[in-house]
Amino acid sequence: MRTRFAPSPTGRLHLGHVLAARVAHSLARKAEGIFLLRHEDIDGPRVREEFYEGIEEDLKWLGLDWDGEPLRQTGRIPAYETALHALKERNLVYPCFCTRREIQEEWARIGAAPQGPEAPVYPGTCRYLTEKSRREKVRSGIPYAWRLDADKAGVLTGPLTFHDLRFGEIPVDPKLLGDVVLARKDIGTAYHLAVVVDDAFQEITHVTRGEDLLSSTHVHRLLQELLDLPEPIYLHHELVVDENGNRLAKRNAALSIATLRERGMTPAEVLSMIKP
Ligand code: GLU
Repeated sequence: MRTRFAPSPTGRLHLGHVLAARVAHSLARKAEGIFLLRHEDIDGPRVREEFYEGIEEDLKWLGLDWDGEPLRQTGRIPAYETALHALKERNLVYPCFCTRREIQEEWARIGAAPQGPEAPVYPGTCRYLTEKSRREKVRSGIPYAWRLDADKAGVLTGPLTFHDLRFGEIPVDPKLLGDVVLARKDIGTAYHLAVVVDDAFQEITHVTRGEDLLSSTHVHRLLQELLDLPEPIYLHHELVVDENGNRLAKRNAALSIATLRERGMTPAEVLSMIKP
């Protein structure tokens, strides 16, 4: 059993993170397995050096000890490039030159944005560009991202499922999130690609994370299949909510572990604030 906790070092840990970390930690420790820490630090300018240490300090204070050295995604860019290259070779990704604004205009033009579970999905504008116009755009220096051709990918893999310890066997809907970005214009990778490559690299057997990422798992299973990576078992846990039933956000600094600690709470008291 190998699990991981994968925060983005864009802030200190809050109670929501603690639940995620504790789920992964206790699953591994009960099975005498391995619990790893991965800093998902590809989130551009919001990442700050002090937060890597801050996160590690918060985890140590809570007694959620991890094994080995934490992994940083910024040190793994060549591995993501290799994976992207494999998808390019099979024409499963295409360059997307759209700006955010152009995407919004396209949604307005077609009348209704195609809805995904979280946000409207990409309308597919660049999927239909000819090779010639792609080349011209690249040559003229327009920045571009790489998007997964979800339709093509789904046809290629055929029906897939993933297994969640809470929700059971779930059939994969390859188009649930549409043609997601696998490589952003600025860093040449993106969450969906990096997380799948790293879960395989760290030999994670059980991916535990909040149920807000359940829809992402459809994309991840698809990518695992396309990249010939092993399929982990999933556990999407409940999210921690505040007294009004709203999801905790990192912005809610009042509930950061550092703040609770400064107020004199003990690790046991902080851990008791979240459900087991
Ligand atoms: N980095 C993500 C977050 O901070 C977690 C990704 C995952 O667990 O797959 O929410």
